[in-house]
Amino acid sequence: MQAIRTLGQFVEDEQIAAWIAGALDAIHQRAAHEAKKAGKSLKLTVSCTSCTAKKTCCWSMVVARLYEGVAIADRLVRTGRDTPALRDELGARAEAMEAASPRDWRTPCVFLDERERCTIYDIRPSPCGILHVYTDPDWCTTLAGDIQGYVAQEELTAAMEMEEVFRDRLSLRKKVGRRYLGVLPRMVLVALEAWDRTDFRDYLRQLPWPGEAEIARWSAKARARAQ
Ligand code: SF4
Ligand code: SF4
Repeated sequence: MQAIRTLGQFVEDEQIAAWIAGALDAIHQRAAHEAKKAGKSLKLTVSCTSCTAKKTCCWSMVVARLYEGVAIADRLVRTGRDTPALRDELGARAEAMEAASPRDWRTPCVFLDERERCTIYDIRPSPCGILHVYTDPDWCTTLAGDIQGYVAQEELTAAMEMEEVFRDRLSLRKKVGRRYLGVLPRMVLVALEAWDRTDFRDYLRQLPWPGEAEIARWSAKARARAQ
């Protein structure tokens, strides 16, 4: 009989974090390629690859999937960054984000460091990697001109399809009308709080996952970002 495992043990034994990291890397790389290709036909160059400006793109509300939260939680646990202070910060950020209008949220991401670098860059959630900008990087902060960008729609779909595969791998039962996603700090916190639980499937399933109306509100924000 197989031993009952915690989420952390399951993730380690089944190489779940490595699998998610590989899938995210492929999504980010394809999105960058598509943005470059789309820009070329319009004689535009992607600004993000050489951007040294303030990263106000990391001041937006990021909606992540539970699997992305699990990959980040794994990294935080393995690098000693899962501390009570970080969990408090994640909880406070999650509550504030969930109460805010996505359009009005402008706060530096909890994973952005003082050198304007993402501290989880290689496993950043898919919404962070699918949007690319062609215009002056300073405009992302000053809004001095019309920002032109590109959202890799196929990669957005690929990230969404991963949700189901992840659910199957975890044997996490589907919740009708609900999806296992939420604001980034909530997804990371949920994964960390489930990490040492052997009843993680029941624990995760009973959480108040968003329905279609809430997801539509977040999607409208994503569309607004891309325009
Ligand atoms: S979105 Fe703007 S601020 Fe962010 S990396 Fe791209 S050019 Fe820089
Ligand atoms: S996870 Fe990284 S790339 Fe995404 S918003 Fe936060 S700092 Fe920026």
